[in-house]
Amino acid sequence: MASRDRTIETLIERLNRLPGIGPKTAERLAFHLLRVDKDEALQLAKAIEDVRRAVKNCSMCFQLDASDPCGVCSDTSRDQAMLLVVEDPREVSRFEEVGYRGLYHVLQGRLSQLEGIRPEDLTIAQLLKRVDNGTFAEVCLATNPDLEGEGTARLLADKLSQFGGKLTRLARGLPAGSSISQVSSSILADAIEGRRSLS
Ligand SMILES: [Zn+2]
Repeated sequence: MASRDRTIETLIERLNRLPGIGPKTAERLAFHLLRVDKDEALQLAKAIEDVRRAVKNCSMCFQLDASDPCGVCSDTSRDQAMLLVVEDPREVSRFEEVGYRGLYHVLQGRLSQLEGIRPEDLTIAQLLKRVDNGTFAEVCLATNPDLEGEGTARLLADKLSQFGGKLTRLARGLPAGSSISQVSSSILADAIEGRRSLS
């Protein structure tokens, strides 16, 4: 039996590396891309290329944006005294949706023994430096309400124990084990409104 073309195999392998895409789905997507209009398939490739060239991590808050500092960090109308610490850039969009108007710090992940993610793999050192140099009146730890998010918040609370301002955590109204990217906007708005003090 003739083996499949190597370029097709490479595409399937690449798609299979994406989160949530198993080998069967990868194969289905690859053949879909070979079946659709060539321009449509190439536009997908171009969109990936464009976004990877244009979008970078902001050097202040580490969220993703085409400009550095990002749109949020350079917006002086936002509350410069409030800092919300999140795990992932996707969560920035959620908090924007529910009307949060302070600044952010994106950790770029959370501590995880299972995945071998250590404090030095996150932007914790940069966070501490920012808080040290900054004029924040409040730092809110908005990591996810699951095991790893809580562990990360505990470590941060410990490291920020010398912080002179208010240290807070999102309200307990968030269902335990849920994720910020999935809860409803009303629950998230309540969680930020009712944040509790850790200091
Ligand atoms: Zn920024």
